Amino acid sequence: MIRGLVKSFQPYRVVEGNYRVWLDKNESPYDLPDWVKEEIFEELREMSFNRYPHITSMPARKAIADFYGISPNNVAVGNGGDELISYLVRLFEGNYIVTTPPTFGMYGFYAKLNEIPLVEVPLGEDFTIDGRAIAEKSKNSRAVFIASPNNPTGNLQPGEEIAEVLKTGKPVVLDEAYAEFSGGSLWKLIEEYENLVVLRTFSKAFGLAGVRAGYMLASEEVVDALYRVKSPFSVGIMTMASMVVMLRHTDLVEKRVRKIIEERERVRKKLGDLAYPSDANFLLVKLNAYEELLERGIVVRKLSGRLEGHIRVTVGRRWENEAFLRAVEEITGG
Ligand code: PMP
Repeated sequence: MIRGLVKSFQPYRVVEGNYRVWLDKNESPYDLPDWVKEEIFEELREMSFNRYPHITSMPARKAIADFYGISPNNVAVGNGGDELISYLVRLFEGNYIVTTPPTFGMYGFYAKLNEIPLVEVPLGEDFTIDGRAIAEKSKNSRAVFIASPNNPTGNLQPGEEIAEVLKTGKPVVLDEAYAEFSGGSLWKLIEEYENLVVLRTFSKAFGLAGVRAGYMLASEEVVDALYRVKSPFSVGIMTMASMVVMLRHTDLVEKRVRKIIEERERVRKKLGDLAYPSDANFLLVKLNAYEELLERGIVVRKLSGRLEGHIRVTVGRRWENEAFLRAVEEITGG
């Protein structure tokens, strides 16, 4: 009954248990303060729960567009960035998707689900992309997916290399899910390159992972195409109200981002040679200690393939990072 293709996917790995410290999903360690939640509830109180949400999410797109000083016609919102990726692999003409492993798994996941071949152009030794190699491999591609900062390696990709790929004219999805932690974004290039799609999310710096709120900035043509095929009501009123309210409180977001960056650098220093530099809210750590950390109540992300023997650790609150560092000290014997 079930298609072989579907059965070839692994079930989601659900980690459950009374672990003390969760540093496995690159979430914000800070929940929204009660006064912000109240503001969201106030917005929701005015809305009709019996009615479908706006079919093209205009209230949220307007709020995002105002924040960037662009037109809502250059903004699309999704039920998390993941939903947008699920469409972006299907939107453009061409034969295959180009990715740059090791990178975020959802590009390959949705390509495979849609029976779209993947062409992989691996990151270099220092985890940067090779723009020329990608450009060469992208000739008949539907789109190239580049994450910057990259997950799970944490590094920003060089602007010149990205420009090299953009110049091919092929659709480029620049996934900037962690941009707030990197001190830079290339979103303005959408004004220069019609083929650029910049993907962003409220799940990380904005602390809305549980709400499911992502968006993309792109040319009118691409946004229009997306809304021709997007599941009509996938962005609910909770998502829209949360986006609108959070954009009124970017000062709070910035304060928290600064704290997370400070903690990231503190933890990285303590880890010494074990940790790679990071432009995101997590660290790639050369330590084969997933199970030993779990035994100590600390959940991190175990990596495989080229990053076998590495873990990815989200930067948490200070006490969580301290618990992690103490456990690492125990495991490595100092
Ligand atoms: N892109 C990257 C690189 C990510 O790491 C994530 C979240 N893990 C996403 C996109 C999607 O996030 P969300 O669906 O929560 O918006």
